[in-house]
Amino acid sequence: MTPRRISILGATGSIGSSTLDLIRRQRDAWQVVVLTANCQAADLAKLAREFGAELAVVADETCLPALRDALAGSGIASAGGAEALVEAAARPVDLTVSAIVGCAGLAPTMAAIEQGRTVALANKEALVSAGTVMMAAIARHGTTLLPTDSEHNAIFQCLAGNDLAHVRSITLTASGGPFRDWTAQQLAAATPAQAVKHPNWSMGTKISVDSATMFNKGLELIEAHYLFPVGLEKLRIVIHPQSVVHSMVEYRDGSTLAQLGPSDMRVPIASCLAWPSRMETPCAPLDLAALGQLTFCAPDEDRFPATRLCREAVEAGAGAPAALNAANEEAVAAFLAGKLRFTDIAVMVDQVLNRYAPPAPESLADVMAIDTETRAMARAAMELV
Ligand code: NAD
Ligand code: MG
Repeated sequence: MTPRRISILGATGSIGSSTLDLIRRQRDAWQVVVLTANCQAADLAKLAREFGAELAVVADETCLPALRDALAGSGIASAGGAEALVEAAARPVDLTVSAIVGCAGLAPTMAAIEQGRTVALANKEALVSAGTVMMAAIARHGTTLLPTDSEHNAIFQCLAGNDLAHVRSITLTASGGPFRDWTAQQLAAATPAQAVKHPNWSMGTKISVDSATMFNKGLELIEAHYLFPVGLEKLRIVIHPQSVVHSMVEYRDGSTLAQLGPSDMRVPIASCLAWPSRMETPCAPLDLAALGQLTFCAPDEDRFPATRLCREAVEAGAGAPAALNAANEEAVAAFLAGKLRFTDIAVMVDQVLNRYAPPAPESLADVMAIDTETRAMARAAMELV
């Protein structure tokens, strides 16, 4: 069998590492073409050498000399900077794993989409920001998009062989994050160290904070809105602290299909790598008897307004989701830097959305312009908070 060519954008991150862990277990099935990171030159070079990548790219150009040094004598090509990242993402491959965090991953993801092959999308901020622009590009180029986010991968699996027209509702499950049972007073004093400690999942810093604020679920609601166009009113969120049921689809006849699995991203990633077939993973099988109980409850949008703000951004339409995402990225960065209180993340996003109603983006450049403008507004506003 000829090995499948794969590029991994964001190879040094949590999703990138989980992907490479699976590839390591079936090395003969894959030819690694491009691996990228923001900087992390030493880590990236080590992976590029291990997997015999053709090209390693750092988005931050100042890290290129370190990458070159670390790759000396390996015969692996290296490049640096935003343009190099986009060019690398446009190299023809069978599968691109889009696992950069934030809107920074949008341009390279779009470059991969434009190749018309298969893209496994973990980078939710890119889809939230570009929404219809990205979905139109996918349709125009005949690209296969495989959702990698665990909830969307679950929904994708539950929809297989069914018609969206028969869907009564789609329910995204949410763990509720590390602060699920915290009072408003406790939330106001939450620290970055507390926020990044997720009870069930081990993830990058930004998504961990998003899980704590529930912006992660809100972003996922927007993601689902674009991926599975059944109408916003049919998209639901339920708190499920055990993170075993990864999401559900209810059909008009009253049947609800759910996907269950361990809370290990290697399961949805494996589903994308092997699709439409299946592959082994090293994850321990579910032991429902040992788990004993699976529980569910409604989200509390008073303590966690993020999901409401995300729903409102979809309703507002036009450039609102892109602005919401950019404001959240800036607020999360400020929180992690100790410059913003935890509960002010949602306050910030709300303020920005109240002041700024960007027009509907029609191109990647339009989305990036909204992103840049919102970040400037958010930074200015944060000096007032
Ligand atoms: P991470 O922080 O662990 O890794 C991010 C990767 O992107 C790293 O390789 C980093 O070097 C690179 N990167 C960071 N900033 C960059 C920039 N400005 N330009 C180019 N590259 C940059 O993040 P993660 O947890 O792996 O998440 C990646 C994406 O997948 C996010 O969009 C996240 O929401 C999504 N996701 C993650 C998980 C998870 O379990 N980690 C689950 C579902 C979805
Ligand atoms: Mg998710």
